[in-house]
Order: sequence, then C-alpha cells, then structure tokens
Amino acid sequence: MALADLSRRLDDVRARIRNAGRDPDAVSVVAVTKGFGVDVAAAAVAAGLVDVGENYAQELLAKAAAVAGARWHFVGSVQRNKVKALAPVVHLWHGIDRPPIADAIVRHAPGAAVLVQVNVSGEPAKAGCEWADVEDLVAHAAGLGLDVRGLMAVGPTGPPEAARTGFRRLRATADRLGLRECSMGMSADLEVAVEEGATIVRVGTALFGPRPARREMRR
Ligand SMILES: *Cc1c(COP(=O)(O)O)cnc(C)c1O
Repeated sequence: MALADLSRRLDDVRARIRNAGRDPDAVSVVAVTKGFGVDVAAAAVAAGLVDVGENYAQELLAKAAAVAGARWHFVGSVQRNKVKALAPVVHLWHGIDRPPIADAIVRHAPGAAVLVQVNVSGEPAKAGCEWADVEDLVAHAAGLGLDVRGLMAVGPTGPPEAARTGFRRLRATADRLGLRECSMGMSADLEVAVEEGATIVRVGTALFGPRPARREMRR
C-alpha cells in the first residue's frame, strides 16, 4: 500500500472525526490491519499510526515480531490458550467479556490495561458481556489488579444510526463507573461513535480498503 494513499485516507478519517465535533487529537485511531500482511502494518506505522489492532492471535504475533514502533491492540475475543503468547506484546486488551479471560490475562500480564466489551445490541452473534454484567465484570477485573481503562463495543449490524442508542449507553455506563475510555466506532459508524463520546475508534477498511478473503490470507 502506497504511503501517500494511506496518509490521504488517514487525513480523511481525521476530518470525519473533526466533522463529528471532536478534536482529532483527542480521539485515538487504532488501525485495524487484520487480514492484511506485515507490509500493511509497517505502512500504518510509517504513516504515524502508532496504535495497531488485530483480532487474530497468530497475525498479531507475526506482525509484532516484524514491525517495530507499534502499540498492539487485541480488539476481539481472545481465546484463553492464546493469552500467554500475546501477553508480552499487547498494549491494550479490548475484548474482556467474561471473568475467565480476565483471570488468564492477569496470570500472564499482571496489571495489564484492559477494556470490558459489552454486547450493546444484544445480537447473539456479537461478543461482549450483557449490560447487567458490566459492573460486576469491571469490579472483577479491577479486583485482580488489572488496569480497567474503559468499555468497548461493536455496533449492531445495520445502518450507522442503529448504533447510536448502544453507544450512548456505553458512554453513560463508563462515566457512571468512572472509566475514561470508550472504544467504539469502526469505518462505517465512526461519526455516530465520536458524537456519542468515543475516545478510541478502531478503523480498518476506511484506511486500508477491503480486506482480502481470510482463506487467502492464511496461506
Ligand atoms: C475488523 C474490526 C474493526 C475494523 O472494522 P472496519 O469496518 O474495517 O473499520 C474494528 N473492530 C473490531 C473488533 C474488528 O473486528
């Protein structure tokens, strides 16, 4: 991917954040390079995108071994048996959605920075804990000594506007629990998320274009 193209797309993302009413410097952009190779992760870092996100353990580890200068974000549900290998390299875990995951992380990365993922839409296919369990899960993780920075959510399938209610409730819940960060908003629903108080957006396709098919990428 040409650096000039990526820089232009990053400018577009920052303009979208500004148009949604926030200072682009106040909202972190996690560049989600899942599905792309090491070259794309390297290009992201070269374009100044320090925060890079992955949701497959093998991909994150391969890229982290090859690309210097990035802070690695694990943005999905992590399998417990992958935590040990990931622990030395992950800067922020976005997908804590049940107590055993917090237990596994603290075992290999005491004091690690985490976000509790909430299933804001209640769709069965979506990861995240239920609204009713957020407070207990935050307390569980904090009680283990993890650094609970905030909450994370993936918007519902559908038009961007469909994400607004859930994002608003995520922000309100984070505020009520005294948590600063809200990781919400992806390429399609970035504006809604920023308007509702996202501090972190996770952006893939708007920066890198459509992802290659997974089968191809596993070769
Ligand atoms: C893939 C992914 C993203 C990025 O999605 P885009 O629509 O490509 O911006 C963000 N967050 C999570 C959890 C993802 O899995």
